[in-house]
Amino acid sequence: MENEATSLHRQAFVSDAHCDTLLDVLEGKRKLGERSDKGQIDLPRLHDGHVTAQVFAIWTPPSRYADALRYGMEAADAFLREVDANDDLIQATTVDDLDAAFADGAVAGILSLEGVEPLMGSLAVLRNFHRLGLRLITLTWNFRNEAADGVKESVTGGGLTHFGRDLVEACNEMGIVLDVSHLAPAGVEDALSLSRKPVVASHSNAKALCDHPRNLTDEQIKGIAATGGAVGVTFLPDFLRKDRENASVADVIDHIDYIVGLVGVEHVMLGSDFDGMGDRAPRGLEDVSKLPAITAGLLERGYGEDDIRAILGLNFRRIFAEVTAGA
Ligand SMILES: [Zn+2]
Repeated sequence: MENEATSLHRQAFVSDAHCDTLLDVLEGKRKLGERSDKGQIDLPRLHDGHVTAQVFAIWTPPSRYADALRYGMEAADAFLREVDANDDLIQATTVDDLDAAFADGAVAGILSLEGVEPLMGSLAVLRNFHRLGLRLITLTWNFRNEAADGVKESVTGGGLTHFGRDLVEACNEMGIVLDVSHLAPAGVEDALSLSRKPVVASHSNAKALCDHPRNLTDEQIKGIAATGGAVGVTFLPDFLRKDRENASVADVIDHIDYIVGLVGVEHVMLGSDFDGMGDRAPRGLEDVSKLPAITAGLLERGYGEDDIRAILGLNFRRIFAEVTAGA
């Protein structure tokens, strides 16, 4: 079983729809090209995990909201400098870039915003971020911003603002993937009904298995699937099970299995949240090098090779291709 899993995983196109690694890079704590015993993602460990497509999020700390545009520019610069410094890291803005990276055994880094604070309410700033290669937007983090209310503001019942609605339209037109993870429920509903392109939840799990505000109801999962999008099952222990200290790779497989049962295998992907979970990690998924454990777990549950390839990365590739096509 171990060998079958390893070889299937090695041949598959593997993607991860969310990590917070840029934070350490920006602060100068780590370089992507150097294997570290800190954190969970760097290029050597991405190769160990056979990852082709890695989304790198720009997450703005609340202490930087006042100068969020500057922060976002500095984070984008940190990412682009890593692309310049490493031959095995390319920036992906089209599906051709993903396929070229796969063929070359390189990592395709996709720049995303986790929370639109750096846009400071300006579509002109969005257009400039797009020029820098931004291809995925998580509309909010946990709090209120110019676009919408995050999940910690859910009590307000607030959905998308006028700017948030304009942003959905602009992302559809420009070919930027829309992400509803962290968004309060009313905003999720708005985004799903307004978007003409597939919508993802880059790092969220099923509320039916773990009742956490960051997880998705069955109705939300069905809504994401109806757009042609997918849920990136996430490894953050708190979102896997209530007794988070017991979280393991088996819980990740449980969430994948639940979502597959609800909406089908085309609407599930991986969204690790590596480097966004502090020292916590589920047993068996301590860092990105351990991703073959997911392939092994899916094989053990009786998943066929095509279904496993879909979950590991082809679903993400399909959505990225559809959203960025012609943009
Ligand atoms: Zn997050």
